[in-house]
Amino acid sequence: MKLLRTRPASRQTHWRGVFGQVCNRLVTAYGRPTLGNYRDPVREILYIVLSAKTTERLYQRAYRGLKRRYKTLPQLADADIAGIEDCIRGAGLAKKRAPQIQKLAQKLIADLGPNPSRKLRKLEPETAFRYLVGLPGVGPKSALCVMTMSLDADVFAVDANVQRVAGRLGALPDNLKHYEAQKRLPSLVPIGRSRDLHVGLVIHGRRICLPRAPRCDGCVLLDLCKFGKTRMRDQIGS
Ligand code: SF4
Repeated sequence: MKLLRTRPASRQTHWRGVFGQVCNRLVTAYGRPTLGNYRDPVREILYIVLSAKTTERLYQRAYRGLKRRYKTLPQLADADIAGIEDCIRGAGLAKKRAPQIQKLAQKLIADLGPNPSRKLRKLEPETAFRYLVGLPGVGPKSALCVMTMSLDADVFAVDANVQRVAGRLGALPDNLKHYEAQKRLPSLVPIGRSRDLHVGLVIHGRRICLPRAPRCDGCVLLDLCKFGKTRMRDQIGS
């Protein structure tokens, strides 16, 4: 996957302008929250692996249990699998995730030494991405999230909320596969705004631009949104 952005074509220049406005409005509306992410990249990797296919409350509890029992990464790398399973059972898939988490800890230590976070922070974005997607349980979207939230890289992760809101704004065609959206959207994001835009679109998608019943009336993006303007016009005309 290409992470570094090239000189934009005119459509991309247009959308970078639009997403610049979108980003400003979302920062004004929601501020700059963390979405529960961690600044420490190793913590963030573990947290993301635990968060797949479960609810926020359950994976946060599982993560706290893991941290209480294993204070350091080497302790986690040397733990017995049953002990890890006990800690994370509440988040589901414990049999699959426990060995995955242990392998993750072992690989980080083997590749990057006892302080992997410091080494990860020194990697160039392309290298960091390649390394992260080679870790057990870490896919491209998770790798981009770790890079955005913990490594301060200006890369843009596309999740379901981001894709839905961007699609409704008119930046993406309907029914695009996720990997296509992930390929197209980063080139439409203004330089230096990836984190704020990602967080803003995720929150907006959770609170306002809901999958089935978007709250277009009063949405701060309405005048920029193709879907929202059509929907409001149709409501007035009916
Ligand atoms: S106007 Fe409606 S569809 Fe557009 S972003 Fe806002 S809530 Fe979503």
